[in-house]
Amino acid sequence: MSRIVMKFGGTSVANVERIRNVAAHVKREVDAGNEVAVVVSAMSGATNQLVAWTKEASAIHDARDDAIVASGEQVTSGLLAIALQAIGVPARSFQGWQIPLRTDAAHGAARIESIDGSALISRMTDGQVPVIAGFQGIGPDERIATLGRGGSDTSAVAVAAAVNADRCDIYTDVDGIYTTDPRIVPQARRLDRIAFEEMLEMASLGAKVMQVRSVEMAMVHKVRVFVRSSFDAPDAIQSGPDGEPLGTLICDEDEIVESQVVTGIAYSKDEAQITLRRVADRPGVAAGVFGPLAEASINVDMIVQTISEDGKTTDITFTLPTADQARAVEILNAKKTEIGFEALNTETDACKVSVIGIGMRSHAGVAAQAFEALAKRGVNIRAITTSEIKISVLIDTAFAELAVRTLHSVYGLDKA
Ligand code: ADP
Ligand code: ASP
Ligand code: MG
Repeated sequence: MSRIVMKFGGTSVANVERIRNVAAHVKREVDAGNEVAVVVSAMSGATNQLVAWTKEASAIHDARDDAIVASGEQVTSGLLAIALQAIGVPARSFQGWQIPLRTDAAHGAARIESIDGSALISRMTDGQVPVIAGFQGIGPDERIATLGRGGSDTSAVAVAAAVNADRCDIYTDVDGIYTTDPRIVPQARRLDRIAFEEMLEMASLGAKVMQVRSVEMAMVHKVRVFVRSSFDAPDAIQSGPDGEPLGTLICDEDEIVESQVVTGIAYSKDEAQITLRRVADRPGVAAGVFGPLAEASINVDMIVQTISEDGKTTDITFTLPTADQARAVEILNAKKTEIGFEALNTETDACKVSVIGIGMRSHAGVAAQAFEALAKRGVNIRAITTSEIKISVLIDTAFAELAVRTLHSVYGLDKA
């Protein structure tokens, strides 16, 4: 017997028929003698619609009325609970506040602070299936708080940690984590295993298959996460050569036997670029530029500062999420004289493509290979950043797909 948390994403619960299919997946695990808790997302598209309605009602609104955006999960958790009851599986729905799943005060992007697992555990040991609304909890103001888009992955991993589950199964519309987004590169291969650290980089660099915080949480609490498809027929699960169901285990690095130099390619089209021209070249200038942005919680990513030719001025280029660009421009322009720059240029058609792999730590020349391959395809690189296990390049959005495909094939990731 194992204790399992099963999470189903938006496409898996998109209508009542699919919810019945999900119920059959849950029944299979219960019939096998497991203790099961389920976390669900809203029906696909539902959260977008709720966000659109709140914006229509008032473009700038108080985030503490998060209850609207959280309501999609209330519907699916209730529907799944009754679909389970209908096939003889005792089940009950729970909203975040009923558990309670406590968050901080950052409505709309709240972080989970604690989960009381006791009610869930006692339901499970009594043979019931708690069906939990993902993406939501209760803030210090005793109001519903949502966890940021894609947040039900984080709910699931956090619940798994709180009830001390043996595994957290993430059921989605693909049968695992691929070497890159399989919707962009049909040659992408499913990975049997990926290390927490690599998955964290993949997710933060644009692979939206798992919310970044869910991977962080899994890494910290050592939750074994298995990503698999909900579209397999519940009673005819496809399995690999080892007899295990098809999917990807996100696990500790030590559990990965065959490590490749490069594990995957991620991309993010959500990048804007700001260049400050002829900035006074003196100590403290970087702090003067980036300090006010940090205070406004704007996450700056790649930074390039050119060597001053005349010893007096320099250019500083950096990237940030497109959504924060207007605010950043306003902040910097307000401090123009204080910082001491001559002009501010912005560009939005930027895309960041990243190569990720823990094997890079011990292999030289991985970056050079990427630069050469991109050069051969005529892709110009605007900025570069690297860490121990990743290389990111900033390029024109028009070349995004070409760059992803090129790098995918250059590192031997294409399926045979
Ligand atoms: P859910 O609604 O189940 O949470 P998401 O849409 O959030 O599903 O995530 C699944 C999607 O993530 C896939 O359909 C796929 O297009 C995308 N994706 C991006 N990068 C990857 C990757 N490396 N491996 C698998 N899927 C990926
Ligand atoms: N329904 C929420 C969203 O669309 C949470 C999730 O699907 O994980 O962002
Ligand atoms: Mg998701």
